[in-house]
Amino acid sequence: MTSAGALREPLERLYREFDYGARLARDAIEFPLRYVAPDDREIVALLTACLAYGRVDLFGRALEGVLAAMGPSPAAFVRDFDSRRDGVKFERFIYRFNRPRDLVAFCVAARDLLARHGSLEKCFAAGDPDPSGPIGPALERFARAFLEADVRDLFPRRRISRGYRHLFPLPSAGGPCKRLHLFLRWMVRRERPDFGLWASIAPARLLMPIDTHVENMCRSIGLTRRRSRNWKMSQEITARLALLDPADPVKYDFALCHTRMSGDCRDRRDAVVCAPCGLRAVCRHWRGRRRT
Ligand code: SF4
Repeated sequence: MTSAGALREPLERLYREFDYGARLARDAIEFPLRYVAPDDREIVALLTACLAYGRVDLFGRALEGVLAAMGPSPAAFVRDFDSRRDGVKFERFIYRFNRPRDLVAFCVAARDLLARHGSLEKCFAAGDPDPSGPIGPALERFARAFLEADVRDLFPRRRISRGYRHLFPLPSAGGPCKRLHLFLRWMVRRERPDFGLWASIAPARLLMPIDTHVENMCRSIGLTRRRSRNWKMSQEITARLALLDPADPVKYDFALCHTRMSGDCRDRRDAVVCAPCGLRAVCRHWRGRRRT
């Protein structure tokens, strides 16, 4: 594992100098970014994060149709959602595990939670047992609030579909819960490219959203040796990044993810591709060759 001292300068430089503007249009954050009102941004961010499995261009195409059906204010659409009247607007939706009834259930659950708490932030806070403790228990209750909402009647034999369950992974299952951590990053972090709308949560509590790109990058620069991408890997990587910036450990996520996603890193030594990379001094692919 690479020491915090060796990682600090290259990672800080990556965070500081990364061209965020050039990559926003290729990131899932571009969907909530389209909305200005905080309540619209909040609900679109959650819906986007829930569907953000697979490539952005693939789930983005499906999401475009959903957002068009929701109209100019997705928050108003959800608050006033009537499954009989509005459910048909999703009838052409299909994306991998998810079908129209999963979106109807999402809107019914979100509508009821918004009616009870006023906002998703307040819903999250209501299930947060320790606002200065780890984020896991609060995230578990937030996901369960959606899974245990009154949506069973929307499904055949009152059995919640696999697709709907897939929208809300539970931390207690041990998976990385990347999409939920990504949603929190968007809502909580105060600096670019994130929104900083949820002021009640400290960025220090966030965990890294680990997808295949972030996992590859973190392994390359010695932030983890774990083989399985799971909750523990996310905790381990975040704890090591917290040695660099304890107040905002997940700030490196966007730049790390897009360095790999854009092809600026191929997860192997490549004299041409690696030449401009500021992480070469800490990259395992260049171990023993740094001087040359
Ligand atoms: S040095 Fe090359 S392999 Fe290593 S992180 Fe940079 S681009 Fe990727």
